[in-house]
Amino acid sequence: MIIKPKIRGFICTTAHPEGCAAHVNRQIDYIKDNTAIQGAKKVLVIGASTGYGLASRIAASFGMGADTIGVSYERPASEGRTASAGWYNTVAFERAARAAGYIAESINGDAFSHEIKQETLKLVKEKLGKVDLIVYSVASPRRTHPDTGETFNSVLKPIGQPFTNKTVNTNTGVVSEITLEPATQEEIDNTITVMGGEDWSLWLKALEEADLLADGVTTLAYSYIGPEITEAIYRKGTIGQAKNDLEATAHTLTKQLERYQGKAYVSVNKALVTQSSSAIPVVPLYISLLFKVMKEKGLHEGCIEQAQRLFEKLYSGSTVETDEEGRIRLDNWEMREDVQQAVKAAWSEITTENVSERGDLEQYRLDFLQLFGFGFEEINYELDVDPEVHV
Ligand code: NAD
Repeated sequence: MIIKPKIRGFICTTAHPEGCAAHVNRQIDYIKDNTAIQGAKKVLVIGASTGYGLASRIAASFGMGADTIGVSYERPASEGRTASAGWYNTVAFERAARAAGYIAESINGDAFSHEIKQETLKLVKEKLGKVDLIVYSVASPRRTHPDTGETFNSVLKPIGQPFTNKTVNTNTGVVSEITLEPATQEEIDNTITVMGGEDWSLWLKALEEADLLADGVTTLAYSYIGPEITEAIYRKGTIGQAKNDLEATAHTLTKQLERYQGKAYVSVNKALVTQSSSAIPVVPLYISLLFKVMKEKGLHEGCIEQAQRLFEKLYSGSTVETDEEGRIRLDNWEMREDVQQAVKAAWSEITTENVSERGDLEQYRLDFLQLFGFGFEEINYELDVDPEVHV
């Protein structure tokens, strides 16, 4: 099969197995080129197949020498359709990690369900024993509650009043104004149910009940804050409410983990192009301006650079540096005064005519294509490839 990108709005419905492997291998190479970290050795990553979760898994194995189990929800290839990118990434990761001598096992299914939790616990017990790091990096538009069977959808909306701002169609480069209507209370509550901390704590509870938490265990989940430009749609919007809940969960979990001398942290990460962030209105335009500024200042990072920096912060000193709310701040370069001033100045002037020059739409588009295994110069996309790959 000859596989080309098929972009529909903010998703790409195809993925390239060899390109995804190239993407994974580049991230592995980055980690191998960095100093090894003495940290976790038995790691469970929930949401392990793309974005921040995948980068965390790569950094755990290749930077800390950890054995890993990854949980994700991905589509295998079928009837002339390619698998999803996360499926190919997982295969590529497992192959590379096993070749390097690490245990690497994966579970594909709904992490929100009791069944997948039980299946994972069984595998953890069999392959890893007790875990010393659990990374929770699930990003999903919906969640079926494991007890009631009710399905909740998350929304990306402002709260209280409509929000109008600039946005870009990243495919056409057209900058326009968008108005988003405020969420209802039910939509706010549902978004918290999907993206808040409940499922993270259910995972920790299940691991504790199965006696699979090691002494000194750490658990991590990821959050975002961002600037004033995106505040109404992000931090003060529905997703921000879910992140507040996630951050509060970290405090509750830390108390529960006291008997293991364990800790739960939320790490506030940088805005990056991932399948999840490209779905948020306004944010892709902000990201393309941010990339330009951060590159000019030599501060640009992707998921893998962030994962490396996160594990350095977590494991390199005797104390972990956090803000006053107890959060690890990997967004410190994004939020630097000079960076934000420059983005703000560009934002006020941005139009369809100058977006390519004032923003880095090219980098945005390349990052987006690469999420699906396209845009790698070492891959010949004219060649026939088998979409059905398995470890
Ligand atoms: P992503 O879309 O790249 O990854 C989501 C992961 O969740 C995938 O592995 C997917 O398979 C998995 N997943 C989704 N639904 C699942 C389910 N039901 N069961 C099992 N696995 C499931 O997203 P991302 O951007 O890497 O986001 C991860 C976390 O990082 C989120 O909490 C997000 O808010 C946070 N974050 C993202 C950014 C950003 O700019 N992308 C910035 C800061 C923080």
